[in-house]
Amino acid sequence: MSNEVLECDLLVIGAGMAGLSAAGWAASRGAKVVVVEKAEKIGGSAALSGGMLWTATSKARMNYYGAGEADLGAVVCATYPQAMSWLRERGIDVSEKMDALHGYGYQIDIIAHLQGCVALVEQAGGHVILGTSVEKLLHTPDGRIIGASTRHVDGCVDVHAASTLLATGGYQGDPELRARYIHPNARNMLLRSNLTSRGEGIQLGEQVGGEVRATNDGFYGHLVSASPSWGEERLYTMLSQYHSDYTLLLNEDGLRFCDETNGDHTNTYYTVQQKNGRALCFWDSRVHEEQATKSIVKFATPMDKFAVALEFGGAGLCSASVDDIAGFASAQGFNGEQVAKSIADFNFCCRNAWETLDPPRSEECIPYDRAPFYALVVYPAITFTYGGLTIDTAARVLDARGQAIPGLLAAGSDAGAAFGIGYAGGLALAMTFGITAARTAGWQ
Ligand SMILES: Cc1cc2nc3c(=O)[nH]c(=O)nc-3n(C[C@H](O)[C@H](O)[C@H](O)COP(=O)(O)OP(=O)(O)OC[C@H]3O[C@@H](n4cnc5c(N)ncnc54)[C@H](O)[C@@H]3O)c2cc1C
Repeated sequence: MSNEVLECDLLVIGAGMAGLSAAGWAASRGAKVVVVEKAEKIGGSAALSGGMLWTATSKARMNYYGAGEADLGAVVCATYPQAMSWLRERGIDVSEKMDALHGYGYQIDIIAHLQGCVALVEQAGGHVILGTSVEKLLHTPDGRIIGASTRHVDGCVDVHAASTLLATGGYQGDPELRARYIHPNARNMLLRSNLTSRGEGIQLGEQVGGEVRATNDGFYGHLVSASPSWGEERLYTMLSQYHSDYTLLLNEDGLRFCDETNGDHTNTYYTVQQKNGRALCFWDSRVHEEQATKSIVKFATPMDKFAVALEFGGAGLCSASVDDIAGFASAQGFNGEQVAKSIADFNFCCRNAWETLDPPRSEECIPYDRAPFYALVVYPAITFTYGGLTIDTAARVLDARGQAIPGLLAAGSDAGAAFGIGYAGGLALAMTFGITAARTAGWQ
């Protein structure tokens, strides 16, 4: 029995930031768009986010902090102003300019943007279909992608399209893919994202010859305290220890293993590689007052991250004595003696020999000497992955020879290599490449 057939200009697989931005952009220029979404609601991780749409302030900073492929980073920088104009034109609420890590941005009404894109698709005669999985991509004998076979509880539909966009949000929800591409310890990593992004977009692309940059093991995430309630979405931000870049991070052997000041997201990347994929995060009352009790972006509610971590079941200790901290570390399975030595050595180097620190410390070379002291056992939690399908600057999926696969596009976390192990905004990456994909499909 043959499937029902639906015809459109652009098929979008995944109704998150990249997919809906592409769909809304193309629909507002006259395209008939079909969006298929696996979950029963739109939004993916974007709907869980705070809507801070930010990016690096220049291509040079994008290269330095994002640390991905320069030409892809340049697309984000070049398209960001157009993305902002489009939001403003449509009357989406945009805050005043705010600082964000190593860039600037705006808090946008992310839900209004996503729902507005759905409305644009429907006004132009298209559809956003929830609870739908994609079985396979359809192609002509000469390899042009012409849509996909989809399955819904009501039956199977072949969607035929001039262009097909993969935008399923990466593979962070799949433990085996995390172990394969990131690190064996990543199999057990906590997930702070939507639950449905399990690498299916990347696999659909691979099945038709798309190349996956397996060497890109980067991901965006944060160090979090443990909690029996992990999985409740409100805890994704509440238990994130954003201030880890001002702390000392010690592995189970009691040793530093990274330049903490490169950022909490980078610390998360290095922590997953440590024994048992965890670390002891140590700081003093100066850092506590200046960082651990402050919010990282203006609109977030400040809270005492240590107190919240303990309230939800995290393992931590606050004490006036470093010896107590060492005892706590031993009780938690860390080398307590070495923890005390590493803290003393670090403080000595800060005062007398910063240049001998190994790993080095780029910023914040200040001794931890103001009691009380804080120690918290932290774990990496993943938000989205950086490795994915190789694309060019027009969001076209490339094969292993670097040739574009006709009719196939990828954006957001399904597309690899825009970031290396750095980070310069996930929403902006998804939205700018969503717009880029819609343009490549012919909707300027
Ligand atoms: C708690 C939290 C806070 C965040 N805060 C920020 C922030 O303030 N600023 C920022 O820049 N970034 C933030 N992010 C990251 C940002 O949300 C993501 O980088 C961005 O949403 C990625 O866009 P995407 O389109 O690739 O994926 P998503 O937005 O996650 O969308 C992917 C969609 O594809 C769907 N899907 C998956 N598989 C299939 C399939 N087989 N078929 C059909 N559909 C499928 C998913 O269900 C989902 O709806 C945050 C993320 C989280 C979780």
